Amino acid sequence: MTSSKSSVLVIGAGIIGAMIGWRLARAGHGVRIVASRRGGDATAASFAWINASYDNPEPYFRLRRQAMEGWRELRSEMPDLPIAFRGGLCWDLEPEALQGFLRQHASWGYDIRAVDREAAALLEPGLAAPPDRAVHVASEGVAEPVATTLRLLDEARASGAELDLETNVTALVQDHGRVTGARCGERVLAADRVVVAAGVGSRSLAASVGVDLPIDAPPGLLVYTEPAPPILNGVVLAPGLHMRQTDAGRIVAGADFAGGMPGDDPRDAADHLFSTLRHALRDGDRLSLSHYTFGRRPMPADGFPIIGPVEGRDGLYVAVTHSGITLAPAIGAMVADEIATGVPEPLLAPYRLARFN
Ligand SMILES: Cc1cc2nc3c(=O)[nH]c(=O)nc-3n(C[C@H](O)[C@H](O)[C@H](O)COP(=O)(O)OP(=O)(O)OC[C@H]3O[C@@H](n4cnc5c(N)ncnc54)[C@H](O)[C@@H]3O)c2cc1C
Repeated sequence: MTSSKSSVLVIGAGIIGAMIGWRLARAGHGVRIVASRRGGDATAASFAWINASYDNPEPYFRLRRQAMEGWRELRSEMPDLPIAFRGGLCWDLEPEALQGFLRQHASWGYDIRAVDREAAALLEPGLAAPPDRAVHVASEGVAEPVATTLRLLDEARASGAELDLETNVTALVQDHGRVTGARCGERVLAADRVVVAAGVGSRSLAASVGVDLPIDAPPGLLVYTEPAPPILNGVVLAPGLHMRQTDAGRIVAGADFAGGMPGDDPRDAADHLFSTLRHALRDGDRLSLSHYTFGRRPMPADGFPIIGPVEGRDGLYVAVTHSGITLAPAIGAMVADEIATGVPEPLLAPYRLARFN
């Protein structure tokens, strides 16, 4: 790679690696994206809800809000990006918790409002039993995860990035404490900077240069129906059943948006979930099950992203997170800026690896 700016090797071609690679290439860096699977692993199995929803501390809420805004900006730049903002309807909380979520997030400026049964039925006429009380957030959305990622990879290539996909990285390469590239079998890919955005695969890559990334990989099962006429408008979070409908008409559902536990028999879990889905929708008996997916979420030990340069390993930068579909635009832009300028982004301060020391 030749460039007047630094050369950057991005490992990972899921939503996070694609977004970072594209941002860096567009900023004029020599970029190579290397990955074993284009479109990602967790990304390809994701529910892909874009939100800044409940149970988060305010700084993390702010990061998520910024990311939601980032998706809107991206969509105006690339109008054909498969993203839709059709809102989220939620009643998957005990009444007191739902009220607390509403009050707290409204005070933070989230466009959340309470809805009664009549309003819920208007928002989602396909529900067999609309809830008596729920909350609705109009600005929440969905990014079709693989199509969006592939589009970003194309944009990265168009901006000059080299794509080296279907390539497995076996280890990072270091020289006197500086990470200088990655080994792919016999080949060594050298770079000024190496960004590890390899989802759950990041842990072993970091370990190859003696860095411990505390990442778990909890499983998540989702079911997909065959394409059906429009039934759902936005994201629906009912107790024990989170669902949405793709533009192609498939309903995607999980016991939780992050995917249900597959248990000993994933097929049985999928059948059970599909049966719950059918009962929850007015025309549910017309639906048929297409397939289920089983993904592993890259989940840092405390549930928050791990983003930033790694102390003691010059040249190495990591970007691993759950909620990566929501967060990708913010992470992509901030990581590219930090790498380009060396100036730390204050919003990323809580998410450095050093917090685990
Ligand atoms: C069931 C489920 C539901 C989810 N729901 C949501 C949701 O509703 N909203 C949301 O925001 N997030 C959700 N998430 C989380 C989100 O999907 C992830 O945070 C995000 O996709 C992570 O993207 P990534 O690019 O970091 O990783 P991945 O998509 O896992 O991509 C990792 C990349 O690294 C590559 N790689 C790994 N190891 C190596 C190696 N050794 N050599 C070469 N390449 C390697 C892989 O080939 C792949 O290209 C969900 C996840 C799951 C599984």
